[in-house]
Amino acid sequence: TRTISLRDVTKVYPRDVVAVDRLSLDVEPGEFVVLLGPSGCGKSTVLRMIAGLEDITSGELLLDGNYANHLPPGQRQLAMVFQHYALYPNMTGRQNISFPLRIEAPHADERTRVNEAARLLGIEDLLDRYPRQLSGGEQQRVAMGRAIVRRPSAFLLDEPLSNLDAKLRNRLRAEIATLTRHLGVTTVYVTHDQSEAMSLGDRVAVMRDGVIQQVGTARDVYRLP
Ligand code: ADP
Ligand code: ADP
Repeated sequence: TRTISLRDVTKVYPRDVVAVDRLSLDVEPGEFVVLLGPSGCGKSTVLRMIAGLEDITSGELLLDGNYANHLPPGQRQLAMVFQHYALYPNMTGRQNISFPLRIEAPHADERTRVNEAARLLGIEDLLDRYPRQLSGGEQQRVAMGRAIVRRPSAFLLDEPLSNLDAKLRNRLRAEIATLTRHLGVTTVYVTHDQSEAMSLGDRVAVMRDGVIQQVGTARDVYRLP
């Protein structure tokens, strides 16, 4: 688990699109921070810069206090889960989950690590199925399994529930809260859903047009009694 700091970070896409504008944010070890805001306000761009999937135009990213703007994604010890689960269709659940281990930790005890992840997510019964044999929620759980099997020091979740129906969304939301707290892992979670942000975040950063308008506990941000 680790500290993630953004210092005056700006992202300019081609054609002078300023997606993120001198944004600063500190996420403490083990903290769950939600980036909340409407579509197009720059949330995914922030997450992708933390993950190293997008260059930072100016400003600094610090991971555990170390300058990380140019650190290769594979060395950041972060796991990212997207809205589109993007499982490998020709691999079983088990193969999907173990795939990152083959690349990043070839000497790990693969079977034990996959079983441990599956137990945490309650998907032991799904490991031998292919993605087409899984429901949306089940696929998203397998995608989470693929993220946690690496024992990352931070999670980056980009609208991981938005493709799911309301009932499933509520269930998985609770599971994500339990899981990240159980693992004690620093988490940055992107959503446009206010109730999701309120129920999940230790702190909520409200974004608009590439800047954070306010940041605080759900209570602070919504001025609850
Ligand atoms: P959000 O996640 O809040 O929906 P994004 O970070 O995806 O916002 O996008 C922020 C802004 O950057 C939007 O105006 C979007 O159109 C623009 N943008 C995102 N990705 C690209 C890209 N690859 N090239 C150009 N513009 C982009
Ligand atoms: P949910 O309501 O959780 O989205 P579904 O109603 O889609 O789930 O599926 C219910 C059960 O049927 C799940 O256990 C799922 O794995 C199984 N299932 C769904 N589609 C298929 C399929 N094409 N082949 C085999 N099992 C399936």
